[in-house]
Amino acid sequence: MTTLLTEKAIQQRVDEMARDINAAYAGEPVLAVCVLKGAFLFHADLVRRLVGEVAVDFIQVSSYGTEQRSSGIVQLKKDADTSFEDRNVLLVEDIVDTGQTLKHLRELFATRRPKSLRVAALLSKPSARVVEVDVDFLGFEIPNEFVVGYGLDSAEQYRNLGHIAVLGG
Ligand code: 5GP
Repeated sequence: MTTLLTEKAIQQRVDEMARDINAAYAGEPVLAVCVLKGAFLFHADLVRRLVGEVAVDFIQVSSYGTEQRSSGIVQLKKDADTSFEDRNVLLVEDIVDTGQTLKHLRELFATRRPKSLRVAALLSKPSARVVEVDVDFLGFEIPNEFVVGYGLDSAEQYRNLGHIAVLGG
């Protein structure tokens, strides 16, 4: 494994992202929705840096399973418990790869009539994009390689790492 992003670099970037997010909401209440499982550490670090009224919720979508490629089929495995109606919803994602997951979630959540819908994603692989999708707050652009750590897995391993590494690199 080769380290791509150190724990220090990630934490510094999360600080900066939180500053941007706090400025964007300007004290309005936020519902920060974590996309399980990959975003769990990013979500936990991010919400601790948000000021004002912050509620959290969790959803889970179908992932790669044990394969390192996107199926293109997005399935909601666990839905949020709370209503999105008239609320400032911040979707917290680990990584935007082909863009299909985020596109699907954006469309689904827009039907729930939130007051606003924004996306914070820690990582993006622009060269892997199949569908265009907006990310409001982005941590890092990375090359089109399979990464693990800081919430991201390979067959459920490595999620606990504080840094992000290229598997097989
Ligand atoms: P997309 O629908 O954008 O192709 O895929 C998004 C999802 O695929 C992410 O939320 C993540 O679960 C998974 N994914 C994409 N690239 C990687 C990667 O490099 N490493 C890991 N562990 N998961 C990835």
